[in-house]
Amino acid sequence: MRTVSGDERAERVLAVKGRLEGRLKGGLEEGVHLSGFTSFRIGGPADLLVIPKGREDLALVSRALVEEGADFLVLGRGSNLLVSDDGFRGVVIYLSRGMRRIRVKNKYEVEVEAGCDLNALIRHCMECEISGLEELSGIPGSVGGAVRMNAGARGVSFGERVGEIRLLRLGESDVEEICLGRQEAGFAYRDARGVEEGDIIYEVSLELEKGDRESSRMKCEEAMSWRRESQPLGQPSAGSVFLNPEGGSAGEIIDRCGLKGARVGEAMVSPKHANFIVNLGRASAEDVRALIGRIKEEVLRREGVELREEIRMVGFPGGER
Ligand SMILES: Cc1cc2nc3c(=O)[nH]c(=O)nc-3n(C[C@H](O)[C@H](O)[C@H](O)COP(=O)(O)OP(=O)(O)OC[C@H]3O[C@@H](n4cnc5c(N)ncnc54)[C@H](O)[C@@H]3O)c2cc1C
Repeated sequence: MRTVSGDERAERVLAVKGRLEGRLKGGLEEGVHLSGFTSFRIGGPADLLVIPKGREDLALVSRALVEEGADFLVLGRGSNLLVSDDGFRGVVIYLSRGMRRIRVKNKYEVEVEAGCDLNALIRHCMECEISGLEELSGIPGSVGGAVRMNAGARGVSFGERVGEIRLLRLGESDVEEICLGRQEAGFAYRDARGVEEGDIIYEVSLELEKGDRESSRMKCEEAMSWRRESQPLGQPSAGSVFLNPEGGSAGEIIDRCGLKGARVGEAMVSPKHANFIVNLGRASAEDVRALIGRIKEEVLRREGVELREEIRMVGFPGGER
């Protein structure tokens, strides 16, 4: 494969912008700092941020990306991301402003656009007396991100509730519209193996159950108080940094290594939850990366465990990981 130079990349982004200007119902913004779009409050500028308003817009954006061959990132609520201080050289697609509609179909089947906030969806279901997502209360992601990461808490994972996922798959020269059932989505621990890197999930249908407003409200409150007790919710973070290794808890292992409170610059291992790194105010992505490296080294040396990141890295050499 031919390597694409920085100048060529920038030209492709400009060409995408040219194709979308005046045609998009939603918005376009250049040079927006992604720190405003991540729960870590970290991240440099994106060349172009595109905010589609509905399916037609998204189709337009996808075609432009394929035809110009520009790099892109689908951004949810940015709650599982570490974005580099240099930002992202390409097009960021942000669905959480213009694609967040919820529709209840056939009693307990809910169709929801991928940009919808997970907690807004849980509240809506509660109002409609539909149950099944309460344990996930407080996960600060979008529906698309919850599918991609198979978000889970307290024994429930989002994938268990999914009926169908609708997505766009961008190929070399065309955009394919794909519908994946729950089995095909290949849900696994913090993963959906049937969703490929670069797929754009735009809608999800969920299979939920009859609920009762009061008992849903109590379940949500319990889930939230568990979170408040165990997680540093007042400080910017991206949730658990590392995946739990087979049969163990990454947080407990990091704690055993005495790393709570360890710091690089303004990034610190939370004294409340050792698998969280918090931003004390002005942490850079490099501070967080260096701290991640230090934790991995120490845990390997002292416990013989190789930790793997759950959070995804954006804008670092090697692309999104
Ligand atoms: C305080 C805190 C607590 C948390 N607690 C939990 C928890 O209990 N359980 C848990 O599982 N996670 C938890 N998380 C992590 C995070 O909230 C989840 O992983 C969430 O599902 C990420 O959703 P997002 O929309 O923010 O995705 P982002 O962080 O924006 O993106 C994550 C990945 O999903 C991809 N993506 C996002 N939207 C789409 C889309 N529409 N189509 C295709 N790909 C997409 C992105 O490209 C990226 O690869 C927590 C995070 C924080 C900050």
